[in-house]
Amino acid sequence: MNYYSTNNKNTSVSFKEAVIQGLPADNGLFMPQQIPQLIDEFFKELPNLNISEIAHLVLANFVGDSIPEEELWKIINKTFIFEFPLVQIDDKKFALELYHGPSYAFKDVGARFLAFCLDYFYKDQDEKCTILVATSGDTGGAVASAFAETDNIEVVILYPSGKVSELQEKQLTTFEKNVTALEIDGDFDDCQRLVKSAFLDEELRKQKMISSANSINVARFLPQSIYYFLPYQYFSHKDKIAFSVPSGNYGNLTAGLFAKQMGLPIHQFVAAANKNDTVPRYLLNGIFEPHPTVATYSNAMDVSIPSNFLRMKDMFSLEEMQQLIKGYSFSDEETLDTMQSVFKNEEYLLDPHGAVGYAALKAHEQKNEYDFGLLLETAHPCKFIDVVNKVTKEDIYPEEAKALMQKQKSSIKMKADYEQFKQFLLR
Ligand SMILES: *Cc1c(COP(=O)(O)O)cnc(C)c1O
Repeated sequence: MNYYSTNNKNTSVSFKEAVIQGLPADNGLFMPQQIPQLIDEFFKELPNLNISEIAHLVLANFVGDSIPEEELWKIINKTFIFEFPLVQIDDKKFALELYHGPSYAFKDVGARFLAFCLDYFYKDQDEKCTILVATSGDTGGAVASAFAETDNIEVVILYPSGKVSELQEKQLTTFEKNVTALEIDGDFDDCQRLVKSAFLDEELRKQKMISSANSINVARFLPQSIYYFLPYQYFSHKDKIAFSVPSGNYGNLTAGLFAKQMGLPIHQFVAAANKNDTVPRYLLNGIFEPHPTVATYSNAMDVSIPSNFLRMKDMFSLEEMQQLIKGYSFSDEETLDTMQSVFKNEEYLLDPHGAVGYAALKAHEQKNEYDFGLLLETAHPCKFIDVVNKVTKEDIYPEEAKALMQKQKSSIKMKADYEQFKQFLLR
C-alpha cells in the first residue's frame, strides 16, 4: 500500500516513508491510495476475534510490506494492551470507554502504534532518533508513556510550567531513561515555537536526527479505526448504530470514516463539538469558516482549524459528508448540565469531552434516527478533576494514578530561549 498527499495525487510513498516523514513536504496530509475492503468472511468471524486479531487483519493492509508479518504482530500486541469496555448508560445509549490505557485517554492507542512502528524503523540506525513534542497536556502523556517502552528512540517533551494539571505533569515527568521533560518558562505557544525552530535549523539537523510524533501521522489515526469494530461483536449488523465522537482535530472521527469505508455498517456519525464548532457549521451551510479558538471545559477539543478536515474533504463531497455526519455543538454550561444529569439519573460519570458527545447523541436521538447510540468516551474523568469536582467530590482516581501522583517529578527547567534549547539538544 502506498500513500499520496492530499495536495498531490501523484505522490507515492510507502507506509514507512509516510510514517517517518509525518507530513508531506507540500503541506498536505498522507492518504492511502485505496481503502481496503474487508470480506464477508471477516465480518462473520468478527464476534470470535480478539482485538489484536482484528487489528492485524485490518492494519496489515495499510502497512503493506513496510513491516514483516511477525514484527507487525509484536507491534499490535504491545499497542492493544488494555480493555475497551462497552458500558450501557440507558435503553439506547452506551459508552465505549477508550481511556483504560496508561495515560487515561484514547490517544494511547495512536501514540503506542506510532512509537512501536518508529522503533522498528529506526532499529538499524547507528544513531538514536530524537522525537520532539510540545504539549499542552493530553498528547504528551500518551507519547511519553508509549516511547518510554522503545529502545531506539529518545524523547524530549516540552511543556509550559505551571499550566498542566498535577496528574498530567506526573505523566510527563516520572519516566527515566529515554524520556526527558523540559519545563518551559512560558506558554504552550512558546513550547511549539521552540520545536518548530529546531525543525527549521539546518545546522542542528546535520548533527542530530530529529522527528515528531505529530497527531496527523498516519500511524496515529489508522489504529484508532480498530475500536469501532468492537461493538459489532455484540450488536447485529442490521442494527442502526450511531457513533458520537467528541472532536477537536477530527482524527478519531476520520478513523471511524475509514472503518465505514472498509465495510463496517456504521449507520451514522455524530460530530460532537464544544464552542469551537467549525465543522458542525460547515455541515450546516457548506462554508468552512474558522472563528478564533475559545477555551472550554473540554480543552482537548479547543481547535478551530481541525487538521484532519483535509482528509475528510479528500474522501467525501459536502453532500456525502452531510449524509454521513451530523454536527452538534454545546457550551460549557450545557456540558456541565449534561455531566450533572447523567450522573444523577444514570449514575454514570462523564468527563467533559464525553459529556459533549453524550449531549450530541441525545440531541440526535430526538430525531429517532438510530437503534443504538454509542458515545466514544475519550478520557477518564480524573484527568479533568476541576470540572468533575463540580459534579461529585468522590474519589475517582484509579490506584495507578494515585501511585503516580506520589512519584517524584523530574524535569529540567528552561527559559523559552532557542539557543539554550539547541545547546541542550546537542549536549
Ligand atoms: C484529543 C482528544 C479529543 C479530540 O480528538 P480528535 O481526534 O483530535 O478529534 C477528544 N477528547 C480527548 C480527551 C482528547 O484527548
